[in-house]
Amino acid sequence: MTTTVKQQQHLMGRDPEPKVQVDARTWTGTKLALWRSKVAWDIVARQAAEILGRCKHMTGCPAESVETEGCLPDCPDREFRMSALVILNAARQSAPVSASKLAQQPYMPPSREFFSDVVAELAACQAELEAFRAAATLPPPPPQDPQLEENPS
Ligand SMILES: [Zn+2]
Repeated sequence: MTTTVKQQQHLMGRDPEPKVQVDARTWTGTKLALWRSKVAWDIVARQAAEILGRCKHMTGCPAESVETEGCLPDCPDREFRMSALVILNAARQSAPVSASKLAQQPYMPPSREFFSDVVAELAACQAELEAFRAAATLPPPPPQDPQLEENPS
């Protein structure tokens, strides 16, 4: 019994991702919303870090130098610090994914089948482009309406 490339990919759990069509306007709006949210969270993170830096501590409080440490019970700004930490960590969660983390992941080279699929797709695109170029004929320019022309004087 022979298996096709498609069946092999399915057995390896590499089925193609389902795709969703989105209107260009919706997509642009989504990107804008994301961008605004990123700018706002950057501001929030900066301000929360500033509040953290202004918090007063008792002498010898470990939280003064280490963010993950808790304050001493007598620290005057203990509650403010806790609130600022909550805000700061919420801002960090909404920060974009760090690319360095991805770069540290092990590299998986694409399979030969995947590579030949991409090459075949590229060749098909080129053929399609050539067909478009051959079919492309510019429409004649619209007739000029003398009433719409601007008066130079
Ligand atoms: Zn403290």
